[in-house]
Amino acid sequence: MTNDIHLNYINGEWKEGYDTIENINPSDVSDVVGFYAKANSADCEAAIQAASSAFSDWSQSALEQRKTVLDKIGAELIARSSEIGEILAREEGKTLAEGIGEVARSGQFFQYYGAEVLRLMGENTASVRPGVDVEVHREPLGVIGIVTPWNFPMAVASWKVAPAIAYGNCVVLKPAELVPGSAWILADIISRSGLPNGVFNLVMGSGREVGETLCTSSDIQAVTFTGSVEVGRRIARNAIENMARVQLEMGSKNALVVLNDADIDTAVQCAVSGAFFGTGQKCTASSRIIVESGIHDEFISRMTDAMANLVVGNALTPGAHIGAVVDERQLKQNLDYIEIAKSEGAELVMGGERLSLQTEGFFMSPALFINTNNQMQINREEIFGPIACVIKVDNYEQALEVSNDSDFGLTSGIITESLKFASHFKRNSKSGCVMVNLPTAGTDYHVPFGGRKASSYGPREQGQYARDFYTIIKTNYSKPY
Ligand code: NDP
Repeated sequence: MTNDIHLNYINGEWKEGYDTIENINPSDVSDVVGFYAKANSADCEAAIQAASSAFSDWSQSALEQRKTVLDKIGAELIARSSEIGEILAREEGKTLAEGIGEVARSGQFFQYYGAEVLRLMGENTASVRPGVDVEVHREPLGVIGIVTPWNFPMAVASWKVAPAIAYGNCVVLKPAELVPGSAWILADIISRSGLPNGVFNLVMGSGREVGETLCTSSDIQAVTFTGSVEVGRRIARNAIENMARVQLEMGSKNALVVLNDADIDTAVQCAVSGAFFGTGQKCTASSRIIVESGIHDEFISRMTDAMANLVVGNALTPGAHIGAVVDERQLKQNLDYIEIAKSEGAELVMGGERLSLQTEGFFMSPALFINTNNQMQINREEIFGPIACVIKVDNYEQALEVSNDSDFGLTSGIITESLKFASHFKRNSKSGCVMVNLPTAGTDYHVPFGGRKASSYGPREQGQYARDFYTIIKTNYSKPY
């Protein structure tokens, strides 16, 4: 632990805050990961002004310059993934292996957009008017406000910051107050990458003050946000007031369908990792497991066997499969949902209890409910913890109907050996990402990510499709003579 205060990064300078954020390890509350300078509205305004001033030059910067910077940031993240992954695991609670994996993936986002920068092709087309040429090309937007959640503190920041600066924008990043450590490390790496001052700014502070200032500013051209539906709606309303572009990634209630013909090992493996890894704190987690009646009992029996072997532990304990819940508030919310589920008549077959381990932290055993139906509150609302609910159905058609009957639509999955059902599910599942014989969680970085309904709003993130959000199209007409 260090007593040094990690500062905000505004216009290429490290700036003190008006208060201090204490970053506590949820696996061991006696461990302070670090102290972070808490920014206020004025700091946020200064960051927005710095980004605005830097935009003119950065938007015209050479593509090679952008590529070099992005490659450098990505390379350092990858080279230091073990060391940074440990800090990430300490501040968020996910296991060390998950923390290291997240940091390495974050580096890949920067390297991917380092290459993508050189592929920003426009279009040339003939006009409907003889002798006129038409060009369609993309320009940077301006200043982008980036608001990130606590569950993937490095990856979400990276998959937003990397394309934003790759396409010539300037950014102000506001990470979740609970986990400023990863964002600060990213800022530190960026500060040494050769990126001109003001292009990237970090303000660590509360959503209510700093987030609100950022998202209501008339000097930003777009906001990209990941978090709860409630805050997402508020951000969208505010953004529209200023005609700012908005991209929201929010809640989910992802379904994993297990059909009678499923390979049982694959089904159990996908259900366990999809529902419980990352302590279930993933927007892609499988929280509803829809199981066809013919395989139901065997699936439950194999699932509980697999769950009995899961080790819940301090994020840094070798061999732990599931780390800590992020904080007391989230743990209480999870445990409240356990009680709600019981009161609704769901049957708890395993887990769902607060655990006391060697270190004092926020641990719970992964929970499995059976005999649930899709109208229960636990199957309608996002819980965001290691809790999975099984819904038994009679056939594939019913499974599809239940899977689609949700206010959310981020990911969905099906475990089957039938090409007919897999193909039908891919075509008819009302979600943004569909997985066949794979967990609902776990996506690639070079293809679009996003959902439907209350899960997502606005253009897709990641892959080439990210350019639709981070650039604005211009259509030029010219008559050469
Ligand atoms: P929030 O939506 O409150 O937080 C996400 C981010 O938004 C944080 O940086 C937060 O700041 C910021 N924020 C909060 N209020 C505002 C505002 N008015 N204007 C701008 N930014 C704001 O989510 P929580 O962290 O409170 O989590 C609550 C629930 O949201 C979880 O239980 C889960 O269900 C869901 N969630 C879903 C995620 C997903 O990936 N789908 C990710 C995280 C949460 P601050 O640091 O102050 O919190």
